[in-house]
Amino acid sequence: MAAAANSFRQPGLIPRGHIRFKSAGSLRSAAILLPEVTPMANPHVETERPLRPLSQRVALVTGASSGLGAHFARLLAADRFGTIVLAARRTDRLNAVAEECMRLRAGRVIVLPLDVADGDSIRDAFGTIAKGERRLDVLVNNAGIAEAGPAIDSTLEDFDRVMDVNLRGVWGCALEAARLMKTHGGGDIVNIASILGLRVANGVAAYAVSKAGVVQMTKALALEWARYGIRVNALAPGYIETEINDGFFRTEAGQKLIGRIPMRRTGQLADLDAPFRLLAHGASRYMTGAVLTVDGGHTVSSL
Ligand code: NAD
Repeated sequence: MAAAANSFRQPGLIPRGHIRFKSAGSLRSAAILLPEVTPMANPHVETERPLRPLSQRVALVTGASSGLGAHFARLLAADRFGTIVLAARRTDRLNAVAEECMRLRAGRVIVLPLDVADGDSIRDAFGTIAKGERRLDVLVNNAGIAEAGPAIDSTLEDFDRVMDVNLRGVWGCALEAARLMKTHGGGDIVNIASILGLRVANGVAAYAVSKAGVVQMTKALALEWARYGIRVNALAPGYIETEINDGFFRTEAGQKLIGRIPMRRTGQLADLDAPFRLLAHGASRYMTGAVLTVDGGHTVSSL
């Protein structure tokens, strides 16, 4: 790795700009090299902003107390982000994730109570970040809930509950983040959608509708906010095993589902590492409005 890094530093190989390779930190399962790119100034594009070193960036992960959110927080910590703000309703669980992040050598970790279904709570959390950190470089808009059951048996209140978190909550956090990012020339918003925002399955209609909204929101906000240097992209995972759902994949129904995935396996959290880093680190600096599926080919399964 050192040899590779040095060879890229040879004068002449990279005529403009400067590329530094950084290891994937303690979460070595992904074993990828991260190009940390300082973009060259482009006089024709007013919206292109210089990237700060990771150690000076502030990232916020919503729903960081478990599952994907906790994993994304650990990745940012392993990559030595300067400040990682962990937000969710259960601050006791966030404290445990914060300890793990500090062990992985995050610069600083802040724990914030946040209920994304509550507008005041969103405003309070972002107010705290604006006052204390004065900037936000990365928002990982991850908090979400899934409620299963036949649509015909559900109530409007069931629908509202899913939308309040998965759609209105993601929208509210994106807006507050963008207002702060705009004050310092931009940032990266990574919305956690789902392949159920692109295709449908039985028993999760409201969830699928909410995630389809997140996909369209990603595109609409990317269009409006490119002028502020804010990139908005989405990660659309397929079925990822977490502590909450791993039991299901061992059942007959779970095994049937796996049989429909072209790669014949569920995703592991580590499968999200490289795609997440691509979107959250700024290396994908010419990507905005993109929806990256990470699903073992599930969305291209045969009709
Ligand atoms: P999870 O239940 O482990 O995590 C959800 C997180 O969101 C938790 O930290 C929870 O506390 C938080 N949350 C829920 N309601 C909240 C609220 N009102 N305010 C603040 N935080 C709230 O589930 P997960 O599987 O890790 O899901 C994380 C995200 O990934 C969700 O958006 C989910 O839709 C998406 N996703 C998951 C999978 C998967 O297979 N696990 C696949 C595709 C997409």
